[in-house]
Amino acid sequence: MHKTLVIGCGGVAQVVVRKMAQHPEIFTDICIASRTLSKVDALIADIGDAGVNFTSAKVDADSVPELVALMKSYKPEICVNVALPYQDLAIMDACLECKVNYLDTANYEPRDEAHFEYSWQWAYRERFEKAGLTAILGCGFDPGVTGVFSAYALKHYFDTIEYIDILDCNGGDHGYPFATNFNPEINIREVAANGSYWEDGGWVHTKPMEIQRVYNFDSVGEKDCYLLHHEELESLAVNIPGIKRIRFFMTFGQSYLTHLKCLENVGMTSIEPIDFCGQKIIPLEFLKAVLPDPASLGPRTKGKTNIGCIYQGLKDGKPVRYYVYNICDHEECYREVKSQAISYTTGVPAMIGAMLFLTGVWNGPGVKNVEEFDPDPFMEKLNECGLPWVEDFNPVLVD
Ligand code: NDP
Repeated sequence: MHKTLVIGCGGVAQVVVRKMAQHPEIFTDICIASRTLSKVDALIADIGDAGVNFTSAKVDADSVPELVALMKSYKPEICVNVALPYQDLAIMDACLECKVNYLDTANYEPRDEAHFEYSWQWAYRERFEKAGLTAILGCGFDPGVTGVFSAYALKHYFDTIEYIDILDCNGGDHGYPFATNFNPEINIREVAANGSYWEDGGWVHTKPMEIQRVYNFDSVGEKDCYLLHHEELESLAVNIPGIKRIRFFMTFGQSYLTHLKCLENVGMTSIEPIDFCGQKIIPLEFLKAVLPDPASLGPRTKGKTNIGCIYQGLKDGKPVRYYVYNICDHEECYREVKSQAISYTTGVPAMIGAMLFLTGVWNGPGVKNVEEFDPDPFMEKLNECGLPWVEDFNPVLVD
């Protein structure tokens, strides 16, 4: 018997839980705790009798005492945090107090600063080690599978990886002029920020969307990609020895960029509070409230995602190129778990990470990024659980 606590009940969390429910032999008991209890109860009712012992709870995950009370009464083995990055540290604090292992898909970000980095969570290493607890950081697709792909490439095909380009392509169309595929607030904070990449031991900073390339993606076609700062650049720079450069590119359509520019120009993406009708509001939070809920995009999104990594390096002194990627179909995801592919490609890896932890395959106390674990069992589960991968040993490179 394993007790799992899932925090959050949004787009990603719903995939995590539906995928866990496909493995009731491992996820025997699941408590879903979130801010809006009605969403949790509706999800559990919709899943129905899957052979899992479900419990629902209401929690404010910004409050350590509330989290501690919940964990003390439920006594989970692992807490899967698929709420928002703002809650990471509060949930890690509660896990330490209650001796619960931890997994998330996004690194900590303070609410009042559009800036994310691992240092805040890496600062918990010693405390998790001493407590004999494991914290698995960034176990979605990117970050997540991109780290597993990197560990797999290094283990099987390279002596040294010198260059990594992570390419995140969403060829899906939801039919709205503007919507985001995951939490709008987090998404817009990420793409409106300055870009950066890692080169020769340091960060090179760029303006938002300053570096653009075109790439022809398998099963999607040619797309414009833009260089962004992204979480896994930070951990891969530490965990891939001898790395010279890591870049992250994401595709955006012209309509998305035009809307984003316009919203920025009028101040709607700002996180500075303003006075509105006698109360303080944050423009970006207001914008989130009027945009479509990412969880509602599932039935309307058509097309495919293609996310993967291109590696260049050396094996036995010879140059090697290797591209590994997953193609995911929005409509197939919806048929399986009532969600579009962005939540699917994030939720499935989170479920796999929790599964490997609970079955003792991924273990070892401390705070770890996914590339620090053995990638082979994870790669096997990706194929079995809906995210099969494709290898190309002679890919076109990004210049
Ligand atoms: P959603 O906004 O759809 O869901 C967030 C959920 O967390 C909601 O159910 C929300 O409650 C709940 N929540 C928010 N604040 C609190 C709180 N204080 N206490 C309790 N519950 C709270 O976001 P997504 O599902 O799209 O994203 C979830 C996470 O996944 C994010 O951290 C995102 O950054 C990450 N992500 C990671 C990716 C990767 O590849 N690594 C890719 C995409 C997303 P309510 O229902 O009341 O709003």
